[in-house]
Amino acid sequence: MKKVIAIDGPSGAGKSTIAKHIADLTGFSFLDTGALYRAIAVGLLNYELDEDSGLTKITETLKKLSIKYENGSVILNGIDVSKEIREERISHYSSVFSALKPVRDFLLEVQRQCAKDSNIVAEGRDMTTVVFPTADMKFFLTATPKIRALRRFEQIKDDYSNVTLEQIEKDIIIRDQRDMERDVAPLKQAQDAILIDSSANSIEQTVEQIMKEIKNKGI
Ligand code: C5P
Repeated sequence: MKKVIAIDGPSGAGKSTIAKHIADLTGFSFLDTGALYRAIAVGLLNYELDEDSGLTKITETLKKLSIKYENGSVILNGIDVSKEIREERISHYSSVFSALKPVRDFLLEVQRQCAKDSNIVAEGRDMTTVVFPTADMKFFLTATPKIRALRRFEQIKDDYSNVTLEQIEKDIIIRDQRDMERDVAPLKQAQDAILIDSSANSIEQTVEQIMKEIKNKGI
């Protein structure tokens, strides 16, 4: 395995944006694992499955899915679904399906494979605890729910005119709770992860803070 910088944290903490910057500055590849869970949701919904479909059916259907992460794009069964995975209903279903063990098992190897050939900055919910427990550097990036909702609202308000800040904050809190309370690979701060609270920081300030830690470690 090559070098891994692992970043975990709740929804909307800015993990993707920050991780992309860190990848650029270090020359590592960027791995957005949320995008993989989102692609699974698209795949299972294409087969008309939902949270009530039962584990057997979901496990069987997963065998029909092929997911690849190529140059920042997510390819599901040969089709680029990078845009579709950002829809609000996919945010919901990716959170629901990601709590299931067969789904997590399915993606474990896909994610580790990404670190076989190149150094990576990987972000998600269980990078530091389950997928890359021996990562060279671990961070837990967070911010208050209000700030995270506001950032998400700014990102999507032009595309989804009927969405409200209150609704986004409510959804974020529900998704956090589901991520933290699930039995398999719950979201939590690893003992050896550095806590970064970005609530009062600009993107640049957070990137600078993380880069300082990376340089201190000699990576
Ligand atoms: O990070 P993002 O919000 O795009 O992820 C979509 C969903 O996938 C999250 O709500 C979370 O439930 C799930 N996820 C996960 N483990 C990861 C990455 C994402 O459970 N490593």
